[in-house]
Amino acid sequence: MNNSTDLLKSVRDDVVQCTQCDLHKTRTNPVVGEGNHNADIMIVGEASGEEEDKNGHPFVGAAGRILDKMLAYIQLERKDVYICNTIKCRPPGNADPTDEQKTQCLSYLTRQIEAINPKIIVCLGNHATGTVMGFLGLENKLESISKIHGKLFSTDPDIMTVKIMPIYHPAAMLHNPPLGEELRKDFKKLKAAIGKNT
Ligand code: URA
Repeated sequence: MNNSTDLLKSVRDDVVQCTQCDLHKTRTNPVVGEGNHNADIMIVGEASGEEEDKNGHPFVGAAGRILDKMLAYIQLERKDVYICNTIKCRPPGNADPTDEQKTQCLSYLTRQIEAINPKIIVCLGNHATGTVMGFLGLENKLESISKIHGKLFSTDPDIMTVKIMPIYHPAAMLHNPPLGEELRKDFKKLKAAIGKNT
């Protein structure tokens, strides 16, 4: 019988061999995802940057250090959550993922969500939010991250029972340090939301 670890391993095997878009030609390593395979909280970022591409792990650069601080702020560690990205290979020059790349990579993300079956999916930034809310039937609630960050959305149980919380991408704080306060507030809301769900 398949458990979450087996399902996640099959996603990894498929991503490693994936040639669906051109990003496989320029990546050093795909960044598939890692963390607790039965996590209540799944965190979805955008795409790997230079550091992540070098070593194959998500959020190990400057944005990752902010993410770690935010998790620690609500008494969580990486081993408590599962972290992955919307697309699994680095766009050269840290370009924004294209719609085509996001569509081609989508099935890996949906399989990861099904395998982990989290209670809450935290979407970091516009790309993760648009992708996750899009395929979970919440496209009519979609607005820019500046409008919907920190809000909790419920899905139609006929699609899947999971809550979605968009949050600013930690990298945004690197360019705009005052956003750190918004991030801390949103992580507090995440803590409260998971408390109600457990
Ligand atoms: N930014 C992301 O969205 N994901 C990473 O893994 C690193 C930086």
